[in-house]
Amino acid sequence: MAERLAVVPLLAAVILAGLVIGSAPASAQPFAPTASCYSFSRTLSQGASGTDVRQLQIRVSGYPGYGGVLAIDGQFGPGTKAAVTRFQQAYGLSADGVAGPATFAKLSSLEDSDCTPVNFAYSELNRCNSTWSGGNVSAAQAKANALVTMWKLQAMRHALGDRPIQVNGGFRSVSCNNAVGGAPASRHLYGDAADLGAGVHGFCALSRQARNHGFSEILGPGYPGHNDHVHVAARSGRLWSAPSCGI
Ligand SMILES: [Zn+2]
Repeated sequence: MAERLAVVPLLAAVILAGLVIGSAPASAQPFAPTASCYSFSRTLSQGASGTDVRQLQIRVSGYPGYGGVLAIDGQFGPGTKAAVTRFQQAYGLSADGVAGPATFAKLSSLEDSDCTPVNFAYSELNRCNSTWSGGNVSAAQAKANALVTMWKLQAMRHALGDRPIQVNGGFRSVSCNNAVGGAPASRHLYGDAADLGAGVHGFCALSRQARNHGFSEILGPGYPGHNDHVHVAARSGRLWSAPSCGI
C-alpha cells in the first residue's frame, strides 16, 4: 500500500506538468497506474497477443464458463473475450469483453502486491515446503500453477457470495506426497491442486461451484478418500467425481 500511495503525488505532478506545458491531451481514464503487481498499459481486445494478454488470462482464468478451461497462451481469442465478459458481468462493469481501464482497475483491486488474489496466499497453497521444489515440475512452474489456481478460487469465492473458501493445502513435493499417501500422479505434484475444507459452504456446494471456474479435476464426497475435503485441480481432460453430490 505504501508504494500505491507514493504514486499519487507523482501522478499529480505529472498531470500538473502536462497542464502547465499544455502538451498532454486530457485522457478520460488513466491505465490503472496504481496496479500493485502488474500494470497494464493498453486496452486489450480480441486479436491482441503478448505478455499482457497472458497476464490478463491468468487473472480471468476463473471465468471460462461451465466445464471450460481458459488457455493461458498470450493469444486473445474468443475464449478470452468470453472470460473477460463474464468477469465484467460478475463485477457489474460494462460487459463488452474488452479489457480497458475499468476492468484493469477492478483486477488491480483484487490483487495483492505479490500478484496473488486478495483472498488467497502462496502459503495456503503450499504447506509442504517454502521453495516449491521437489515436485514434478520446476519450482517456478509449480508456483505459477498455484497462482492460476488461486485466481480460479477467487472467482469461485466471489460467485459464492464473497464468503471465505478454506484451503487446507496445495503443492506437494514427491516426499510430501508420499508422506500423505498421495497418488503417484497427483496434481499436487504440479502445484495446481488445492484441497478445500467444508468451511461455510459445505463440500457439495464447493464441488458444484468449482465446475464453473476452470477446474478440470474435481474430486469430492463419494470419491474414494475424498469424504473429508474437496480436491480441485487442473489436468488434461476432465475428471469430475463427487457421487454423493450428484457429480
Ligand atoms: Zn487433493
